Amino acid sequence: MLQWSDLKREKNFIAGEWVDAAGGVTVPVVDPSTGEQIGTVPNAGATETRRAIDAAAAAFEDYRELTAAERAKMLRDLSTAIMDHQAPLAELLTREQGKPLAEAKGEVGMSAAYILWFAEEARRIYGDVVPSPWKQRRILVTKEPVGVVAAITPWNFPSSMLARKIGPALAAGCTVVAKPAMQTPYSGLAWGVLAEQAGIPAGVLNIVTGSARDIGGELTSNSLVRKLTFTGSTPVGKLLLRQCADSVKKVSMELGGNAPFIVFDDADLDRAVEGAIAAKFRNAGQTCVCTNRVYVQSGIYDRFVKAFADATLKLVVGSGFDAGVTQGPLIDDDAVSKVEEFVADAVSKGGRIVTGGKRHARGGLFFEPTVIAQATASMKFAREEIFGPLAPVFRFETEDEVVRAANDTEYGLACYFYTGDLGRAMRVSEKLEYGLVGINEGLITTEVAPFGGYKESGVGREGSKYGIEDYLQVKYTCIGGLGA
Ligand code: ADP
Repeated sequence: MLQWSDLKREKNFIAGEWVDAAGGVTVPVVDPSTGEQIGTVPNAGATETRRAIDAAAAAFEDYRELTAAERAKMLRDLSTAIMDHQAPLAELLTREQGKPLAEAKGEVGMSAAYILWFAEEARRIYGDVVPSPWKQRRILVTKEPVGVVAAITPWNFPSSMLARKIGPALAAGCTVVAKPAMQTPYSGLAWGVLAEQAGIPAGVLNIVTGSARDIGGELTSNSLVRKLTFTGSTPVGKLLLRQCADSVKKVSMELGGNAPFIVFDDADLDRAVEGAIAAKFRNAGQTCVCTNRVYVQSGIYDRFVKAFADATLKLVVGSGFDAGVTQGPLIDDDAVSKVEEFVADAVSKGGRIVTGGKRHARGGLFFEPTVIAQATASMKFAREEIFGPLAPVFRFETEDEVVRAANDTEYGLACYFYTGDLGRAMRVSEKLEYGLVGINEGLITTEVAPFGGYKESGVGREGSKYGIEDYLQVKYTCIGGLGA
């Protein structure tokens, strides 16, 4: 079995080979827990990206000809390779990203689960025979892989965000050029090692690191790339959508969120608190489905704030490698400053800090788990994604009022609400303009269910039986001249 240091590759993976960027230029990678450099990766640009795209296009010719069973077997082997290396992959992930080791192990497990799911889906890409309006013709509908796929992923889930893209792409018969985030490139590059272990042919999966603008520019303008799948911020998603327009690529976008978490008077308080902690503080609040706004009905407001703050105080901040730690560092100093700004803005507008509110005594990129009561719609976090361990708690009176407030955002990814009333559960869930709804549950992501947003949170779905459709083209074939 490989160790984490064997999985940590300081080169790019192009056409089945580990290569440097032109001129050997590199950029450092830092452990956010300590600020220490843990290595370097190539600073690739358009030239290397073009080579990776050419390799993916060449590999597509043979790869698309494999049977579904052959593709499924490769993906099963890939899933096995991931689970065989779950511990060292988690260690690598925590080292570059900072999340607690248990969360990193969970993420790596999710990666294997996505790959296995799509190994299974590879064999279920069905077509149709459509009743023909003509006696002497038959109508076939088949599905074909779109071709070369470009995948750009963020740093918050550096392993599983790629799994959601590599899995359906390879299952559909597509080949891939992936660009992981520069804060967390090693978990991305490790996919190259895993692909080698699983016997995936050279060129089917390529991974480049370096200048986001140059790599992204090539991936979006090169006409050999037929699809872009992106997870990241809404502004970059919009930019990439514009860049893809000229060559009319298929696109999937998983963008920002502004998740409301609603607690009605009739909710099970303990359950709601437990769900709020999980939905808010996982990954130090750095997920696009993390609670951004907690809305609590008047009758239960004070009790909820107290119980929530008490539970928040039990969170343990520290290095992801230390036993018992539940919250690691934020990813970089900008992220910490942004949370500080949200706190200052809220306090200046009447918000009350119940717990936390400042950088953690450990220093560095650690921030105290924070609860702010008396939050109002005029505060910045009502509209902007926090992406940090800060939970604003808003008070509301009626169901209509809270549904309106929850929907009053350009985002529409995840939302959560807690109630003991079945009628309310159905009414509210149908009115919320969100792609994912958790009723009495704060953690709902699974490979078997569709993940994706309404409104400016995205285009397309990942995971589930729906997730493969974005990697397929529909072909209509008309067979004529069948009659005498
Ligand atoms: P985050 O806030 O998660 O860092 P970003 O949208 O900035 O969100 O980053 C997500 C991914 O998009 C990363 O891999 C990043 O390098 C990439 N990215 C950022 N800017 C661009 C760009 N102009 N073109 C292509 N990719 C980009």
